[in-house]
Amino acid sequence: MTKEDDKSIPVRVALRCRPLVAKEINEGCQTCLTFVPGEPQVVVGTEKAFTYDYVFDPTTEQEEVFNSAVSPLLCGLFQGYHATVLAYGQTGSGKTFSMGGTYTSAQENEPTVGVIPRVVRMIFHEREKHTDCEISLTVSYLEIYNEDILDLLCPSVSKDKPSTINIREDPKEGIKIVGLTERQVMSAHEMVGCLELGNSARTVGSTAMNAASSRSHAIFTITLEQRRGFFLSVSNCVFRSDNVVSKLHLVDLAGSERQKKTKAEGDRLKEGISINRGLLSLGNVISALGDESKKGTGFVPYRDSKLTRLLQDSLGGNSHTLMIACISPADSNIEETINTLRYADRAR
Ligand code: ADP
Ligand code: MG
Repeated sequence: MTKEDDKSIPVRVALRCRPLVAKEINEGCQTCLTFVPGEPQVVVGTEKAFTYDYVFDPTTEQEEVFNSAVSPLLCGLFQGYHATVLAYGQTGSGKTFSMGGTYTSAQENEPTVGVIPRVVRMIFHEREKHTDCEISLTVSYLEIYNEDILDLLCPSVSKDKPSTINIREDPKEGIKIVGLTERQVMSAHEMVGCLELGNSARTVGSTAMNAASSRSHAIFTITLEQRRGFFLSVSNCVFRSDNVVSKLHLVDLAGSERQKKTKAEGDRLKEGISINRGLLSLGNVISALGDESKKGTGFVPYRDSKLTRLLQDSLGGNSHTLMIACISPADSNIEETINTLRYADRAR
């Protein structure tokens, strides 16, 4: 179910509803959403309808999500456009499932394989077709937790010491992450190996830090560098044609639910409610990008969080963005579901 192409929309939104899980069925939860056949629309309860670029109902397979919403971004990547895929939603809504954040090589041929392994497969497949230029691929995998950047491809370093990874802005090359492992990979096998390595680092960390994965953003970044033309050496000067570098960020965002913080203060336990800083500024950035009146001259508040700074050159401008807004169909989650539907609505 898709809407017609509209080039003026910088961010496309795919709504994805997972099926009821066993726990919800056992608890007697009912489905509170209806999907309009043939329309990218979802109805909450009996009246409130929301429309997006794509709406994937609970029967939609991973392959269809990838083919219809994600693969168009990959075509852009080979043409030199940056791209970002963001999975948004409350904890348990299917972000990690959709992105492939629990991928292991044992799953390789399963239909449940998520976005990232499918992206990797397609990129290497496409590369074969580009015989006119040399293409190199590098990958990095990081986590943002409490505004700290952790290197998922070098987890032992990040666990023992506070993060020494920093974001720098290079006038020529754009956003650079200093101190992060960037691994050059030769094959799809090697690239999904990096995903698997980072995924396991994330899981280990999360049990130690009390399900920190629901409060952290995980970003798997693929950098594609295309070298065309030849190196020319003329009287000791080396000329070469410009390289085209494009980046694809695949992001499993922190859970969008309001977070309860427990802090001991004297004898009293204080409970505050906080919203993840990255998600808050991401919402502001996306809405500023979508605001026609702000285009060109407007202020986009990228600097308010590590997440938005890091994604700065891949959100808006010369880049394509897809938000996969994940929801549960259960009536017990209706409040958070409506929050997600609204957040995603604001992105368009
Ligand atoms: P999140 O990352 O948003 O916290 P998960 O991806 O871990 O959520 O999903 C929660 C549970 O729901 C997992 O057991 C996952 O396997 C299951 N799930 C999520 N989406 C789907 C889907 N589309 N089809 C089947 N099961 C799903
Ligand atoms: Mg998750």
